[in-house]
Amino acid sequence: MTSTPILATPARFPRLMLPAAPASDPLDLDAAVTAGAFTALRIAVEQLKPEGVINALIESGMRGRGGGGRQIGEKWYSCAHAGAPVAMAAPVGGAIVGVDEFVAPARYVVVNAYGADPAVTTDRVLVENNPYAVIEGAAIAAFAVGASEVVIAVRAEATDTIQALQTAIAAAESAGYLGDNVLGSNAEIHFSVKPLQGSYMLGEETVLLKGLEGQRGQPEQQPPYTTTRGLYGKPTLIHGPQTFAAIHTILTGGLEGFPETDARTFAGTVLVQISGAVAHPGIAEVPFGVTLREVLDLAGGVPGQSRLKAVLVGGPSGGILPADAIGVGFDHDSLEKAGAQVGSGSIVVLDQHSCVVDLAAVLTRFCADEACGKTIPCRIGLRRLAEIGARISEGQPRGDEIARLTDLSVDIVGSALCDHERRATLALLSVVRYFRDELDAHLLRNSCPAGICHPKADARAGAVS
Ligand code: SF4
Repeated sequence: MTSTPILATPARFPRLMLPAAPASDPLDLDAAVTAGAFTALRIAVEQLKPEGVINALIESGMRGRGGGGRQIGEKWYSCAHAGAPVAMAAPVGGAIVGVDEFVAPARYVVVNAYGADPAVTTDRVLVENNPYAVIEGAAIAAFAVGASEVVIAVRAEATDTIQALQTAIAAAESAGYLGDNVLGSNAEIHFSVKPLQGSYMLGEETVLLKGLEGQRGQPEQQPPYTTTRGLYGKPTLIHGPQTFAAIHTILTGGLEGFPETDARTFAGTVLVQISGAVAHPGIAEVPFGVTLREVLDLAGGVPGQSRLKAVLVGGPSGGILPADAIGVGFDHDSLEKAGAQVGSGSIVVLDQHSCVVDLAAVLTRFCADEACGKTIPCRIGLRRLAEIGARISEGQPRGDEIARLTDLSVDIVGSALCDHERRATLALLSVVRYFRDELDAHLLRNSCPAGICHPKADARAGAVS
């Protein structure tokens, strides 16, 4: 089991994904059904039918939990109504066979439980603590878009997660919730779990699909969107586990007990992982829109004599916000405006002993290293951007580094093929936006207020002399 603790939250925070009280055995299907699991699937199959499910999602305005937070109803509609499947060779039993021998399912649903941010385990914690919520949501999606195959992509090293999913899928199939004749209907929905090994880029959906196909992981230009041409060229619906787990609430009207949550435009909840300079690092389920301050309070705030300096929000390609910005709401629009992102749900808290310039330089280097190299503006541009960050943090600036950094970032964002390139500029740009004093200290006075960076410059000077 993943060992990251789940933090306590106030009663006004609805628990829509993680169980309110830890189940003694999250894989116990009978207990899960008693608690309400698969009631939404039954509503979908027996009452709403595929169009009704999609209409309910469109009306709810529900947005994907991670990534760009786009509305998901249109995506489901697009996948359900995508044209005739494209004939392609596809693997059967590990071997590539010809089109004539392969009877492809018309559509796929893919659950991206890979968890691309290596420091974040929210998806694994969700799957291990409430596997039936994810499975039910994905089964509803398959029923709605007409897919007979659901593939769950998981990190190969997450053996506990894989085991939990396989056990839960087998139990749900035996009980008739999945398989050949879902809940007595004609619907056929089969699940498989696919362990993957790869990089940060697997968070991008076209890269994930290539990984599942055993191909080199590089993004594809969209359109055509994956809802039209996805896994093996077939219409494919992809979301993360949190998005699938939230479907249950939409179809069962499960927000009634939470008057503070806006049910008209379903914002719902999201899992965040708080780490760094806090008293109690861990994972929490919070309503979209709560302030960063409220989230930090869940983790006990910054301990001892330390003081809050900044928060890195959204993972390695997120933005660094200053202490006076923690009134910002944790939702896609507010964070985007502030120069950060929901991303992986990661919130790393920094105290006065951390240097934001050093952090931004390291993050930009990570993003440059992880870029797949397919497009030149990203391959070369991110490398140059990382070099600028390194020069500033090492006290070796060349000319007007801030102008160079901002101009290059504009070019990188403008020519981006995928979100990785767009987001990789956030860290350094947020330092320019919010931490100008600290940046100037590095650039103009050859000084690092946190005492982090100059040892590097001093060490190099020492080595040269
Ligand atoms: S923008 Fe970067 S990460 Fe995205 S496809 Fe191009 S090289 Fe790869």
